[in-house]
Amino acid sequence: MNINTKYSYLVICLIFVGLALTSITNAAEDKHQNDIITGTLICLVPDYDAGNVKPVIANENCSGHAPHGHVVLDTREKVGNVYAVKGSPEALKRLQSLNNKVNIKIAGKISGNQDAWVITVN
Ligand SMILES: [Zn+2]
Repeated sequence: MNINTKYSYLVICLIFVGLALTSITNAAEDKHQNDIITGTLICLVPDYDAGNVKPVIANENCSGHAPHGHVVLDTREKVGNVYAVKGSPEALKRLQSLNNKVNIKIAGKISGNQDAWVITVN
């Protein structure tokens, strides 16, 4: 094996190590940016006279209601986890337009702690 061949092997090895590290880093980031919950999207329609909200599981585009917030009830495990839904107006509009809001997959970035969870949809 001459010097050039040895050098080539070294370069190839370094490239492989580099690629491996890159894919590990990307996988970690993807996981953080693209969590997916399976759950039911619930509209919290305000009733200003009563001073509360009425939870509604809409089976049509819910943007016809007065402006309202949403939560997702995680249906993967029956532990009652509820996520507040945040996101850009476009992303929220997409969710509102779904005809089926039961047991759907919702992708986004999950943040919070065991007392309060938020999913930021994208
Ligand atoms: Zn809604």
